[in-house]
Amino acid sequence: MNTTQQIAIIGGGCAGLSAAAALVEHGYSVTVFEASSQLGGRARTVVVQNNDLMQLLDNGQHILLGVYDATRALLKKTGVNEDDVLLRQPLQIRMLSNSAKTLFSLKSINYLPAPLNLLLGFLFCRGLSLSERINALKFMRYLKQTHYEIISDRPLIEFFNSHQQSDNLLSYLWEPLCLAALNTPVSKASTRIFLNVLKDSFEGKKSNSDLLIPAVDLSQLLSHPLSNYIRTKGGVIKLNHRIRALEQADNGFNLETRSEKFTFSHVIVATSPARAGDLLQHIPQLKLALERTRHFDYQPIYTIYLQYPSDTRLPHAMTGLNSSLAQWVFDRGIICNQKGLLAVVVSAEGKHQKLKQDDLALRVAKELNRAFPHLTKPLWHKVIAEKRATFACTPNLTRPGNKTALPNLFLAGDYTYQDYPATIEGAVRSGIKCAELIEKSSVKL
Ligand SMILES: Cc1cc2nc3c(=O)[nH]c(=O)nc-3n(C[C@H](O)[C@H](O)[C@H](O)COP(=O)(O)OP(=O)(O)OC[C@H]3O[C@@H](n4cnc5c(N)ncnc54)[C@H](O)[C@@H]3O)c2cc1C
Repeated sequence: MNTTQQIAIIGGGCAGLSAAAALVEHGYSVTVFEASSQLGGRARTVVVQNNDLMQLLDNGQHILLGVYDATRALLKKTGVNEDDVLLRQPLQIRMLSNSAKTLFSLKSINYLPAPLNLLLGFLFCRGLSLSERINALKFMRYLKQTHYEIISDRPLIEFFNSHQQSDNLLSYLWEPLCLAALNTPVSKASTRIFLNVLKDSFEGKKSNSDLLIPAVDLSQLLSHPLSNYIRTKGGVIKLNHRIRALEQADNGFNLETRSEKFTFSHVIVATSPARAGDLLQHIPQLKLALERTRHFDYQPIYTIYLQYPSDTRLPHAMTGLNSSLAQWVFDRGIICNQKGLLAVVVSAEGKHQKLKQDDLALRVAKELNRAFPHLTKPLWHKVIAEKRATFACTPNLTRPGNKTALPNLFLAGDYTYQDYPATIEGAVRSGIKCAELIEKSSVKL
């Protein structure tokens, strides 16, 4: 039995690594247990074998927002220069029809201060009638006046309908934004959480609504610099260490893997809610936390990578597609120099889940070909299906916080950051919050 470490963090995703980084910074003794052979959790890079070629692909295309201060500060702390690793773009949404027609285009007017940059962006956007644009502006004004708050949470579609948002506004703007931000269809999505995201992006500094697209792979962006930082400051990271049992001990907790047992004074459970439930179930005082980790539904995200000849290029780094299975297409050549590689994102539940992966890739390739007629046949494809990519962000979801009924056991993870949907930023903030709670509650170890 090893009793030398004091704080155990179970899970090496963004939440667990952020907690570890914050704790080692202040001299705490930390061990991160990660079940898999790599760090990063749902924001990781995977090695894919394609014939004789080894390819590095992210498990899904991620986007950050300018307002993600905690993540940006974390990158800085770990020595990463954000300009080297993130492609920053002022908010721009472009929607193509499946016959290559630009249906909609909204651009933040960069030389104007916030919120004029977006308000005039709406006024001059392409693809909406004057009355639709005026309705969108009235809606934005209403949100501002009400501080983006609502009295009772309800499905987002009901909220849009009660504010006369037309079918075009829904299908070109609000539905795609909701899927991108909450990974939940508008018919099921929480209005409150969607408005939180809008508020944080559209209020305050102009750069808050900037899109930050990773220009390196996700592991280089997050888990490599974080793990280097944690190890340099004396933290321990144990890969391939799935914690199978968590029990209370005299002065803390016993943690068991398949072959080892460890004792720690404090534990941060930084797994997904489903896995957290498995770990909490044998501690009677954690019944409430257990219940709150058990009632989540989940939504998938499919990423379809299509490799075209290396000189293939799309007009923009990111384009939305309307009336097709493919929702967004990212040109990885523009974004991170993976020349000719396109990443197509299909968020949330839908009929694509019924297709075999090869058929889905074929279908999406055909859709791309209609939207971008210059595309040839892809050389290869790879579908990465994250079936439980995020929790379904539905109205009035009771989510657990970071504290539990035990003063030395905490929960971290995107699902515990109650103001946001499942995001890297929510995960990072939750990890930092757990570290703060430990610092406040404990004598320095
Ligand atoms: C395809 C996809 C696209 C996404 N796009 C975006 C996006 O554009 N923008 C955005 O902000 N967010 C996005 N997200 C969401 C974002 O990736 C997650 O919100 C975030 O990574 C969650 O981090 P976490 O640390 O809370 O959980 P996780 O990443 O799930 O980390 C939990 C870790 O715990 C480990 N673990 C589980 N059980 C045990 C155990 N018993 N013992 C030890 N270790 C264990 C797991 O292996 C995992 O590494 C996306 C997610 C996916 C899947």
